[in-house]
Amino acid sequence: MAQLEIRQVSKVFTDHTAVSNVSLTVNDGEFLVLLGPSGCGKSTLLRMIAGLELPTYGDIVIGGRLATRLQPKDRNIAMVFQNYALYPHLTVYENIAFPLRVRGANTKNVDEKVRWAAGLVGLDSLLKRKPRQMSGGERQRTALARSLVRDPDVFLLDEPLSNLDAKLRHSAREELRQFQDRVGVTSVYVTHDQVEAMGLGDRIVVMQGGTVRQIGTPEEIYQYPADTFVATFMGSPPMNLIQQDDITLGFRPENFLPESNYPSGSDVTRIAFRVYRVEYLGGDRLLYGHVCGGLPETPAIARIPSSVSYSPVVGSETPFAVATADLRRFETSSGRALPVDGIVVERRLAHG
Ligand code: ATP
Repeated sequence: MAQLEIRQVSKVFTDHTAVSNVSLTVNDGEFLVLLGPSGCGKSTLLRMIAGLELPTYGDIVIGGRLATRLQPKDRNIAMVFQNYALYPHLTVYENIAFPLRVRGANTKNVDEKVRWAAGLVGLDSLLKRKPRQMSGGERQRTALARSLVRDPDVFLLDEPLSNLDAKLRHSAREELRQFQDRVGVTSVYVTHDQVEAMGLGDRIVVMQGGTVRQIGTPEEIYQYPADTFVATFMGSPPMNLIQQDDITLGFRPENFLPESNYPSGSDVTRIAFRVYRVEYLGGDRLLYGHVCGGLPETPAIARIPSSVSYSPVVGSETPFAVATADLRRFETSSGRALPVDGIVVERRLAHG
């Protein structure tokens, strides 16, 4: 295990800057998720940590040792990619043992290590199987165990769950998190899936256009987005944004409820809402409409639990409200969040 530091790292490909001046520290044993839309530079950053790309500027320090120019094999990192690349003709046991055999480890050592790693990922009973006789999740665990036998300082994972179906993805995510809790290896995980990021990350780094927009715990990022990009990238449906001259108001769909829903005397901000479509999702209903009244007519979405008895009248203006504590404000010109309260902003800046 080790701490990983990325110091003012940039990567320029001919005339294109893929990663621009990124600095961050992954704490010993932490699970950090790099999240962002396609092309934001997350894989390039991961590849520089791995040693597969050389930074144009900046340094990478692993376990206190300058690693910027070290070969991948000298960094003591393990990578798990989307494509697990297991050897189809080898059993699970031999797949896991492979990195040790290459290094010439003796048989007793190999056996101990393989059984230890297989035990950690719950593969003890499947050691004689071949990859084609296993589920996608089991294959993924085999790849993890294979990486683990090398005792890496840092685990790098590039969308390792993206070729699993939705159900399997969910259970594999849960397994991965349990595995991380047990093993506690410093990990950097790349994904463009915000649900995966929220579920897995101790902290999330939201990237866009090669830069870091925000670093924080899932809760910090969701509740206190640093700017309008993060506010709309995180959350499905995204945060509602209503532009009012130089200030943009933001509120999450689940915090936008009929005014009658709040106890009298609550500190709320009233916002009139005209619903034009209702989508039933089982546990919730999504109400699509426009804010109106005194605000500029802007599309917005409300998410109302199905347990709340409320019958929206399509087309009519209804009094809705947001608890004032759930209202966010952004500077319209820059998109940056305005302080909500001193403590939270201070915390966020400390992470950044
Ligand atoms: P995705 O989720 O689609 O994999 P990403 O966030 O991982 O995207 P990167 O693969 O890091 O993005 O790419 C960042 C930018 O750098 C992209 O615009 C990409 O086209 C560019 N890029 C990546 N590798 C190279 C390269 N070898 N040469 C030139 N440009 C590159």
